[in-house]
Amino acid sequence: MKHCYPFLFILLFITGPFDSAYGQSSVAITIDDVPGTGKLQKDNFTSQLLQELDSLNIPVTIFITEGLIYKGDRVDKNFELLKNWMNRGYTTIGYHSSRHPRYSEVGLDSFKIDVERGENLVKQLAQSKGKSINYFRLPYNDLGKDSLQHADIERYLSSKNYKIAPFTVESADWMFNYIYEYYLEKKDSVKARETAGNYIAKTLEYFDFFDSLAWKIYGRPINQVYLCHDNRLNADYLPVLLIEMKKKKHGIISFDEALQDNVYQQKDNYYKKWGISWIYRWMKNQEEISFFSKKEPEDDSYDLYKKLVQEKKEQ
Ligand SMILES: [Zn+2]
Repeated sequence: MKHCYPFLFILLFITGPFDSAYGQSSVAITIDDVPGTGKLQKDNFTSQLLQELDSLNIPVTIFITEGLIYKGDRVDKNFELLKNWMNRGYTTIGYHSSRHPRYSEVGLDSFKIDVERGENLVKQLAQSKGKSINYFRLPYNDLGKDSLQHADIERYLSSKNYKIAPFTVESADWMFNYIYEYYLEKKDSVKARETAGNYIAKTLEYFDFFDSLAWKIYGRPINQVYLCHDNRLNADYLPVLLIEMKKKKHGIISFDEALQDNVYQQKDNYYKKWGISWIYRWMKNQEEISFFSKKEPEDDSYDLYKKLVQEKKEQ
């Protein structure tokens, strides 16, 4: 789908603030870095997120980071967890690499080795569950540092019958999770709850932002793809987030359904390494991206996150 002249957007933005009047998009939920094995032993070898999803009855697409099964000393339990995720009727499977390398840094040859290291296992498991793997999500959504790297990775993944998995909305759940786990460790449940509240509020703001952006570009709601991770914060709060999204009239759809929206047929025009939303990648140039991305909801949690990371390093 073509979109109109950039200056027209600018005019529209001056006249129309971002607000929540647009919240009617349908959303596909995608979860990266499955299986979250980091704290599995501590959690008695059960995944609370998986249990929550079992009772939610929504379609979810999971992107497997195969190397996570080798974390810790209970590979058998990690493997079982991966199988459980793949076994669920409501999960669609995508592949997300073995050791989560950053493509723009390691280059194509190393990246290929990583992809091929983990894919047989994941493909075989998927096949044994009667599922196929059609999508690959790049770690950090890093498609390469320039147009050559972008073209290389597209060619390579397509030669292996993978399509690159897009997303449109993410809300730095990994960052909120870091802060959340910090407070949980400190047994500061008030601060932990406050952090979770910030995560939910911020995510809803991001949906409003990208919905309004879509309205202004396409004149209609588009199907959104939400990217989040298999972590403690989502185990505890994804159900709450989904309730809040429902209140704002977002419907939950599958990833395949979401991608039937013809906005996803557009060309990715972005040739840097940063993992930005596909709504930006469909824009014509960097000026447009900069103009709109400056209007994103502000996030003051990042300073706290950086401070906590620094503190941990100094310990
Ligand atoms: Zn990832």
